[in-house]
Order: sequence, then C-alpha cells, then structure tokens
Amino acid sequence: MHHFDRIDGALQAEGVPLEALAGEVGTPAYVYSTATLTRHYGLLADAVASHPAALGEALIAFAVKANSNLSVLATLARLGCGADTVSEGEIRRALKAGVSANRIVFSGVGKTDAELAFAIDVGVRQINVESAVELDRLIAVAASKGATPDIAIRVNPKIGAGGHARITTGGATDKFGVPADEAHALYARASLSPHATPVGLACHIGSQITSLEPLEAAFRALRAMTLELRAAGLSVTRLDLGGGLGVPYHGQSDLPSIEAYAAMAARVLDGLEVEAAFEPGRLLAANAGVLLSRVIQVNERGDGRRFLVLDAGMNDLMRPALYDAFHDLVPVRPREGEPRLYDLVGPICESTDIFARDRMLPPMQAGDLVAFMGAGAYGAVLASEYNSRPLVPEVLVDGDRWAVVRRRPTYEEMLEREPRADWL
Ligand SMILES: *Cc1c(COP(=O)(O)O)cnc(C)c1O
Repeated sequence: MHHFDRIDGALQAEGVPLEALAGEVGTPAYVYSTATLTRHYGLLADAVASHPAALGEALIAFAVKANSNLSVLATLARLGCGADTVSEGEIRRALKAGVSANRIVFSGVGKTDAELAFAIDVGVRQINVESAVELDRLIAVAASKGATPDIAIRVNPKIGAGGHARITTGGATDKFGVPADEAHALYARASLSPHATPVGLACHIGSQITSLEPLEAAFRALRAMTLELRAAGLSVTRLDLGGGLGVPYHGQSDLPSIEAYAAMAARVLDGLEVEAAFEPGRLLAANAGVLLSRVIQVNERGDGRRFLVLDAGMNDLMRPALYDAFHDLVPVRPREGEPRLYDLVGPICESTDIFARDRMLPPMQAGDLVAFMGAGAYGAVLASEYNSRPLVPEVLVDGDRWAVVRRRPTYEEMLEREPRADWL
C-alpha cells in the first residue's frame, strides 16, 4: 500500500501533484511519502506488539542503508523506530535524526577499529559481531576504553534467500556472519572476556524474500542455538531477526503479510523469553518513494524498436543495472491512444543504463513526466554523479506540504569539491 494516487488523471504524492513538484524542483528527483512510511511502520509495530509474550519489548530498527535521508530517518524516529547501521556515517545520521543511541544496532562485515571505538563511545545498543577476528578487535578496542559493550553474534545459518543471487547474504559461501558450528565457541569465548557482554544472536539471510519459509528456518536455527548456549550455562536475552521481507514491486498479491511474518516469528520464539529485534529496510521504505523523471526524447528505430530516453539514468536509480530489479514505470498524466512497447533507457554512456525492455505504455512524447514506482529503498542511497550529473535531489511530502530534504547541487558546488593539485 502506498499514498501515490491519481487525482483527475494525474499522479500525486499524497496531496501534492507531481507535475507541480517537477516544475518547482526539476527532474530527476526522488519523492517520498510520509503517510506511507508511517503506515508501514505502524503495521509492523502493531503486528509485533500483538505478541508481547513471545517477542518481548521488541525493537524495530530501520536498516539505514535502504534510505539514509535525514528527514526520512527523523520521520521514523518520531514514531519510535530505531536504526540498524553498518558504518560510522550511518550511526551519525541516525543520531542526528533523533534516534537515541540505545535504539541503534551496529552491524556490518568490516567495521574498522575507529568505527568500533565510535560506536562504543556513543553507547549504541548492541554491536553485531560477524567474525572471530572482529570479536578480537572489538575486545581490544573495548579494553583500551575500559568498556564492556553489549554484543550479538551474527550467525550464518547456511540458508540463503532473496530476490536475486546478488542480494542473498545467508548462504554458505556468503561473506556475512559466523558459521553456525563456530558460533557457539565464539559466544562462549566472548562471555569469558571482561570487555564484551554477549546478549544474543543475530541473523539476516537476504533481501526481497517473498516466502516465510527460509526466514522461519533461520529463526528456528537461532532458537536451537539459544537452547544450546543456555544448556552450556550462557545467557541469551536478545534475538535479532534481521530484515529481508519482500515488497510487491510487481503488484503481487501473494506476498506474506506483515501480520503473518510477526506471527511466525512469535511462534518460533515462543517460550524463549527473549527480546526480539527486527531490521526492516525495504519493507518500510520501498513503496514510500518514487523517482520522478522527464522524457528527453523518443527514439524510433527503423527496425521498430522504440527507446524512451529519460533524464534519469543508472546513476540515479541503479537497482535495474545492479541486480536486474523491476520498477513499474507510470506516466504521471497518461495520454489517450493505443499503448505501445518501449525500451526504457537513461542518458548514461553505458549499455547497462537500461531500466527495462518492452514495456507497454500509453503513447509518450518528449517532455512527459513519468514515475518509477517502489524507488524509496536502495534508490537515492545508491546514486552517484557518474557522467558528471549533479546528485539527484530528494523531496519529502506530508499531506499538502513538501520540502526539499536533499538539494540538487549546482555545477559550481560539484566542481568546487575538487581542488586543483598545486603543481597544475
Ligand atoms: C540490509 C540489511 C537489512 C535490511 O534488509 P531489507 O531487505 O532492506 O529489509 C537488515 N539487516 C542487515 C544486517 C542488513 O545488512
């Protein structure tokens, strides 16, 4: 569900017509809907809160890497959402957006000593340790500060899942997490250190997962390991269940509901008396954003191929080039006439700068506005200035009001960042 609807034939973001926005801000531009973010967070928070016995005082920590805009984070923080972070930069963003440190989880496969020190200094809720060597470094950093941070061991349950091989993280050969058969010994070792407090286990097996089965298998693995650790006299009070639940990019209606997801987690954790944590990224943000773009021209070839050349490129929305992702493209105000097939391409000098082939659309002309739907997660965060195109701006809508929440840099600003070497 989202709050991008047609009023008198033209697409709006909540109460704001996208045609008017494009006129003011220019294109390409990301546009986010507060009502959609709020709705998605509320659905998950309510679903989780309806199982207090099994899930405890569960933390919902938004995966900041999905959409790290400060106003998006502040919107979620005001609702009580925490943050799952993977770098010092993301921790700084979460703090600046108003997320309290005790609702910030620090994950990631390659945290530097400096980042670990920073996380300890600001007092994050928990550091998710992903390898034995990282545990050693964390203990050394904590010892140098006389600190004892709460940690969880991220387990790789050898259950990979997700919408594409390139967004799977829980498979046996993936770089993420500690193999299940090593996790027990690592947890025991951490428990012996005066400079780490192991509080639990974590997993995150992939992204855009469209069935509950792999998630349930992973949660069951965490449950089994919790019982083993407790049998060995170790304390386990938190289970971090990661993110990964998929969203209906194609308008699919057969995805697991948020309620079914929370109920499944509650069933698996029942009786363990742990505090659960959830780390949704895509689930909260994907359908809360669109990428607004304008048609530069329509190239009709002699062989019948028709290219819709857009002013948005792979540098603005990389998901199709990176992992063949599907985004629905809709005209903001569709023209009358027979639909036709178009290849959707950007202006970048790369053959991967193609969003889709053979999309059936109403007749399109130069100057028409279009919206890539479902672009609120892993969209703007992956954007670059490739081809020296100023970084795509972001707009947040809330009812009838809107604000530019990341400005499009001017060409001068872009060039000023590069001081000339003094010998040139
Ligand atoms: C990316 C990531 C998430 C969020 O994944 P989604 O598929 O966007 O829900 C959660 N936890 C960790 C550790 C991640 O790396």
